[in-house]
This record gives sequence, structure tokens and C-alpha cells, in this order.
Amino acid sequence: MRSGSHISLAEASRRAPKMLARGASSELETGASPTFDELTEQLHFALGDGRIWLNDQRMVLMQSMVLGRLRAEIIGAFGAQATKAIFMRVGYIQGMRDAELIEKRFPQEDLTHALAAGPRVHTLEGFVKVTTKHFEFDLAKGTYFGEFHWHDSSEAGEHLASFGLSAEPACWLQTGYPAGYTSKLFGKPVIFREVECACMGGSRCVIIGRHAEGWEKDAPEREFLGLGWKGGRTRPASAPMDEGIEDTSTSEHQKDVAVGVSANFLRTRHLLEKVATTDATVLFVGESGVGKELFSRQLHMLSERRNGPFVPINCAAIPDQLVESELFGVEKGAFTGASVARAGYFERASGGTLFLDEISSLTYAGQGKLLRALQERQVERVGGSKTIAVDVRVVAASNVDLAAEVSAGRFRQDLYFRLCVFPITIPPLRERRDDIALLMSYFLEIYATLHRRRLKGFTRRATDALLKYDYPGNIRELQTLIQRGVVYADDAGLIDVVHMFNGAELLSPFSTTLMQDGKLRQVPLEPGNALQSSGGTFAAPISTSFDEIERQTYLKALDLAHGNLSAAARHLQITRPQLQYRMRRLNILNQRNSA
Ligand SMILES: [Zn+2]
Repeated sequence: MRSGSHISLAEASRRAPKMLARGASSELETGASPTFDELTEQLHFALGDGRIWLNDQRMVLMQSMVLGRLRAEIIGAFGAQATKAIFMRVGYIQGMRDAELIEKRFPQEDLTHALAAGPRVHTLEGFVKVTTKHFEFDLAKGTYFGEFHWHDSSEAGEHLASFGLSAEPACWLQTGYPAGYTSKLFGKPVIFREVECACMGGSRCVIIGRHAEGWEKDAPEREFLGLGWKGGRTRPASAPMDEGIEDTSTSEHQKDVAVGVSANFLRTRHLLEKVATTDATVLFVGESGVGKELFSRQLHMLSERRNGPFVPINCAAIPDQLVESELFGVEKGAFTGASVARAGYFERASGGTLFLDEISSLTYAGQGKLLRALQERQVERVGGSKTIAVDVRVVAASNVDLAAEVSAGRFRQDLYFRLCVFPITIPPLRERRDDIALLMSYFLEIYATLHRRRLKGFTRRATDALLKYDYPGNIRELQTLIQRGVVYADDAGLIDVVHMFNGAELLSPFSTTLMQDGKLRQVPLEPGNALQSSGGTFAAPISTSFDEIERQTYLKALDLAHGNLSAAARHLQITRPQLQYRMRRLNILNQRNSA
């Protein structure tokens, strides 16, 4: 994912060869990376969880026949031309997504290798067997040419099954694919056309790709793909396509933005957008760690009050006797004991939004005063005599069921009704699993930048573990795990399970892996799994400090290695000097020596 328009000098020089590249398939050595094996590594079957992943994209297994039926239905409803356009566009998006996968997982590859991986991913996904005849490109001139042969096209087969022999090529979805894939990597529209198709009676399909200007001016594909190409522009390979099909995958990746693509997340965001532009009081309900403050901040940013202050307070953190003075302020005077007058949170939030987290921890008396302030839109400082008008939108949050608190007599019913006009429930992370992969890359980017680490990503085991985990601590816990992983993993390496998880019971000891023979097998989480498989448990609760977790990790590794420092370091997948250094920093070595 792109972090913004500014790139560092080092980053620019890393990208430079890509931008100036010229290349051809003939220059590639056989078995060039990324290989089939490396690509299948990105495929994860979260068995029993209802999900299959290709890196961070959710996939589905579906009978090719069913897709064929869908295609025939659409042709029946809209005609062949409209269906062709729809399928080419959908294939384009599929190709573009796969190009992103390659950019993300194999960023070190030059453009020739990255382009050559496209046919392999397409083949891996089971649509067709692609043979690259030849391709060449010159980024400076903006030219691309490629010829590919397809064998056993699933789409041609389905077309034949539904309609018999055809007079025209019919692999529409598949022709969109290389267009999306190549355009995304090349940074310029590249159009592919099928010139021979198995559905016309031949033994294979033949497709030709050319940069958009290389085709006739009225090439129909231009319209099918919505490529409003105007010509004459060149773009670096890494720049987003700003015309044609919208790149829907680059969601708002700014900091302080709630990230997600799951149906549950989108439902929540939709509610939030609806209520944001009004002045209504909003109540966020959700478990601890789901990101209530983040959502509140976003509500504020979407509202008319966005230029005013956003003032967050955690009600549980204010001592009972100070609730009033904190919320409403204090007037200077002998009576209050205050030496200077001080504005409360309400006054400070005037013109903006006041976020009251853990609202249920307010005392009963404090609740009454809050209710009055909400009703009268004015406050009175403690020890003061005049009222001060405040223009504040109140957003509250609770991780307990407020209705139950009302029944139990701990929460005022009148305040509850006042707050609960627009309740928005934020789902726990385990109910929005589709977002985990997205959040993983989001937090990895944030923490790698923060800690100045260049990490390649997660190992397959680590990805499996993160996708399966239940996250009792929700997003905050995922965030903690990834930050821990970023800090523990070796620079320029991959984050593994041992870098993040410390508790044996958190994980199934097996991971479902695609084997060389194409079968799925359960394999133990090896190697570096001594901490997981030996039965040693030192589950780290979320509240445990980072130092304490780190310390327990080293002590446990040393115990497992019977005090052998080198063996312990191997278990942890760090070097002996690294382990020594870290233990010295935590005073572990000294303690052990004196023990
Ligand atoms: Zn075909």
C-alpha cells in the first residue's frame, strides 16, 4: 500500500531501475522468481473458518460450471456485447489485484520479472494454462508488446458448453486479466485482444497485448475497459492509475482512519456516515479494543465540526470527586481552593466534539450533571455563579451493556435515553475477519515506519496464526502483536509466529499447507516452534508490559535449551549476540548468574 506522495531518496533510488527499465521475456532465466512455489506460498486455506486467502485477498472455490452458468445468464439478460464489457472489466480488476499482490510480496523484483509472474498467478488461479511466447517493453517510450498462448481455457470450455462453436473469441474475463495486470505494473493502459480462441474450434487461444496507443484509435476494448485514454502521458510504474477503472483497493490509508472491507465493518461505517453530518448525540457500543475512539474521531472529521476541537476523555480515569471540576471547570476562589480559574472539558470542546469513553464509570451524581449540561447546552464552573453557553456535540462510548446498567440501578435512565438515540455497534474483530489481512498490512506499514524497520512481511505460519486467532483484545491486540513482531523480527526479514505470540494455548500447533503434490496437509508449525510445541505455557495477558513479555520469552527459551545460550537463540531465531544484548538490557543475565 502506498503511504503518500512523498518518498525518501533511498526509496526513489530503489524504484529508479524499475522506472527506467526496458526488458523482454527472452532475457529471463528459466525458473525466474517469483516461482510457482513462491506464489503458492501466498495461498492459505483457513480450514473450518470459511476463508481462503491469496496473500491478503479473500478467494472462493467455485465450480467452473457455476461461473459458466452465471455468464450464460448475464448473456441472456443483457446480450453478448454488454456481457463481454462486464467480464473484461471484472477480469481487469482481478488482474490488477494480482499485480498488487506481486508488488507487495515481491517488491524487489524488477518489472520484467514482475510482468512474467502474471501468467503464473493466472495459471495458479485455475482459469487457464498460460504459455508466454514473448513480451517486450520500453518504459521510456511507453511501448509494450506481448504474445501468449492459452491452453484449456475454462471460459472457452464453458462458452462451448452453453453455446456451441463460436464465430468470435469468447475468453472475455480472461482477456481482461492481463490488461489489468500489465497496466497496473506498467503504469499505462495496455490492451489485450484474443485473436484465436478454442471456442472457435482451435486447440488453443492466442492473445496479443499492446500499449493502448499501439491499437487502432477506435479499439472497442478501450471503451469496454473504461480507459479514457488521452495519449501522450507517461507515468512512473508505481503511480496509481488515475483514469479508467477506479482502483478500489487503495482505500483511505491515512493514519487515524478506521480500516476495513468486511460487510460488518462497512455496515458500521455506513451508519457513521449517515449520522456524522447531523448534530445528534451518538453512542458507540463495543468490546474493549474495537477502536471506539478511532470511530469517534472519524465521526468528528466527517461532521460540520471538523475544524473545531476533538476532546477525548476516559471517564474511568477521572477520580469520582473530580468529575465535576474536570468536566465543567473551576472558578478561582477560596471556596473551591483553586488558585487559578480553569476551563473544563465541555468548554474546551466548544465548537467541536466531546468524546466520553467508558461513560458507565461516571458516578450517579456525575451522570445527573452531564445530563443537565446536555439538556441546557450550558455549564457552570465549580464555585462559579454564572453559566457559560457551550456548543458541544457529545459522543459517548461504552463497553458494557448500558441497558443492563440501567436495570441494575447503576446508570440513569434519563441519561441513557438521551445518549442512546443513535447507538452504533462496532463489531469485535472476530466478527469482521475479512479485515484481518488488511489490518495486518496496515499496522505493519505503520510500525515498520515508526521503528524504522524494513520488513518484508509475515511468514506463512505467522499469517496462518493471525488469520485464525480469536482476538479477545480486538484490534488493539492485533496492533500489539504486530508491533511486537516488528520489534522482534530481524531487519529486512519476515515476521514469524515466535516474534508475536508467546502463549502456547493461543495457537493450533498445525498449519494447513499446500504441498508440492498439490494436496493440502496439516503440518506442524516448524521450525522455531519449540516455544509453541513443548507444552510450556506462559500466556501473556494483554495487560502485561512489553518488557515482561520479552523477559519471559528469553527465560523460557533458556529453560527449554537447558541454559544453553546458543540453542536458546536458535529457538528464538535470533543470533547469540542479539540474545545476549537483549538479556543484558533486561538484567536477565545478571540475575541468572547470581541465582
Ligand atoms: Zn479463448
